[in-house]
Amino acid sequence: MSINIAIDGPAGAGKSTIAKAAAKKFGFIYVDTGALYRSIAYYAINHGADTKNAEQVIAMLNDITPELKYINGVQHVFVNGEDVSNKIRTPEVSMGASNVSAIPAVRDFLFELQRRIARENNVVMDGRDIGTVVLPDAELKIYLTASAEERARRRHVELIEKGENVSFEEVLADVNQRDYNDMHREIAPLKQAEDAVLCDTTEVDLQGAIDMLCGIIEDKTGAKPRGN
Ligand code: C5P
Repeated sequence: MSINIAIDGPAGAGKSTIAKAAAKKFGFIYVDTGALYRSIAYYAINHGADTKNAEQVIAMLNDITPELKYINGVQHVFVNGEDVSNKIRTPEVSMGASNVSAIPAVRDFLFELQRRIARENNVVMDGRDIGTVVLPDAELKIYLTASAEERARRRHVELIEKGENVSFEEVLADVNQRDYNDMHREIAPLKQAEDAVLCDTTEVDLQGAIDMLCGIIEDKTGAKPRGN
């Protein structure tokens, strides 16, 4: 039986960095489910669809084969055989992913793929509805969050480092808009599962957050760090 750890929380809480580090420490596979929603948005945008238009997006689903592959332990996202891992990280695709993720048919389309990976592997899977919908029986559920201002501050630093010319106010508006979309959509809205452990990283630095998560994983699942 595989061990499944579900990590949910709002955009920019550091889920992917923290979950990735924890997965590595325990020798689990890290699954970034946001990348799947991003890959659908990427395809839709590139094929002239409006990501808010459910009919247009749904009409394309049959033409999209998303896949997650692990190359040297790192997740890569493929769409119809093309590695789109880097191309899906733009602000335009972020907003598009938030839009397509509100379409029930898109969520259904990605559901089985996520379940299969979790059945076949020990995973740390991050997203918005992992503990509530995708893996309701996960051994451990974490709700990882931080204040909107702190999340926007971190994302702003990242974007500036990448050479993107955006203001803090724009990034904060984006974070608030995505929070609102994710928490208010009708299907699988972002919320803390009743049995999830709350981790707030507003006041904690990255290493502190990784240590906090690894401690909880060891305590609650009995998994041992690799090499120990
Ligand atoms: O985590 P990331 O920011 O890459 O996710 C992109 C978008 O995909 C999110 O804003 C959210 O709307 C959507 N998403 C989702 N369910 C998941 C993972 C991501 O709805 N499990």
